[in-house]
Amino acid sequence: MNPQFLPFALPDITEAERGAVDEVLRSGWITTGTRTREFETAFATRVGAPHAVAVNSCTAALHLALEAIGVGPSDEVIVPTLTFAASAEVVRYLGARPILVDVRAADHAIDVGAIERAVTPRTRAVLPVHFAGQICDMDPILQLAEAKKLCVVEDAAHAFPVTYRGRSVGTLGDITCFSFYATKTLTTAEGGMITTERDDWAERMRIMSLHGISKDAWKRYSSEGSWFYEIIAPGFKYNMTDVAAAMGLVQLQRADEMRARRRDIARRYDEAFGGDAALELLSVRDAHEHAWHLYVIKLVREALTISRNDVILELKSRGIGTSVHFIPLHIHPYYRDTFGYRPDDLPVSLDCFERSISLPIYSKMSDAEVDRVIDSVLDVLTTHRR
Ligand SMILES: *Cc1c(COP(=O)(O)O)cnc(C)c1O
Repeated sequence: MNPQFLPFALPDITEAERGAVDEVLRSGWITTGTRTREFETAFATRVGAPHAVAVNSCTAALHLALEAIGVGPSDEVIVPTLTFAASAEVVRYLGARPILVDVRAADHAIDVGAIERAVTPRTRAVLPVHFAGQICDMDPILQLAEAKKLCVVEDAAHAFPVTYRGRSVGTLGDITCFSFYATKTLTTAEGGMITTERDDWAERMRIMSLHGISKDAWKRYSSEGSWFYEIIAPGFKYNMTDVAAAMGLVQLQRADEMRARRRDIARRYDEAFGGDAALELLSVRDAHEHAWHLYVIKLVREALTISRNDVILELKSRGIGTSVHFIPLHIHPYYRDTFGYRPDDLPVSLDCFERSISLPIYSKMSDAEVDRVIDSVLDVLTTHRR
């Protein structure tokens, strides 16, 4: 038997997305316009936030968020080390210093105690990452941020749609940043969204997302617009296209159905792997309050005679694509050499990284494919148990 390779991630695109994109392509207006504004309104309504600003990536969203709250060269921003490049590089864009901190072993969420120990007079913000799609335990983080006068900018790249103690993501911290990258739980190929309650920040982020041009710059080529504009700051080119927004509007309507499918897959994985002495699973507060972007298994070293990297290769040879989330930022050459981090400085994240494998979990997977992942993982483990 030579089963087809099962990719780690695939976007869930239907006829509806294709139709919506085609309509925009035929309309003559393909970049930022009415579709983008509609998507912002629909997204804001969905999460219950007063403002949503559409951009072309979560990286752009995070950059604009930190710029809006006024992060500058002498500032520090607290970031978990177990995250993607984007979460910390945006701090460097503004000349500020990312202070990398450890996560909790149980759920890979930023450690509140570590945040508290990292706060200095220069700390401007903390940037929690909702790892795998489960919202960090936000109440203690928000309380600490209030006590220390820090802004909370959430990296919600994994976390849509999802709630925390009944409150929707996008309404918890000061500013929330979402990703619509190809592998994420809602995709526009590339894209992002920023939500906030604050009128002034929303206005600043909107202006800075399109060259720092004062008012509705995107309208300048439309019948309602005018050629005149004023540049009030050296902004960026971060606007979302109507092609992407059209896709996003359809994906938004399908978000709950896609999440329900991922939750089913997670439940099947839980049943298959839950009692296995060679595996640890991440702790889940409430399976209903999880976006299920990632499903991570952690190998128990003492129970196995095989390394994490070799398990990944064995799964690959059985036609199963996997990934690892994440290589901690502090062991990457840039952060190591620029700030002098040693691997053991953040030992929990290092250990989580070394033992983790992310399994495929996406709405397009069939039951047979889920079973293939389960059988392959159990087969590899069984062959290499101590
Ligand atoms: C994907 C991801 C990002 C970046 O999203 P883009 O839309 O690709 O810029 C940021 N943070 C985390 C944790 C991510 O997984």
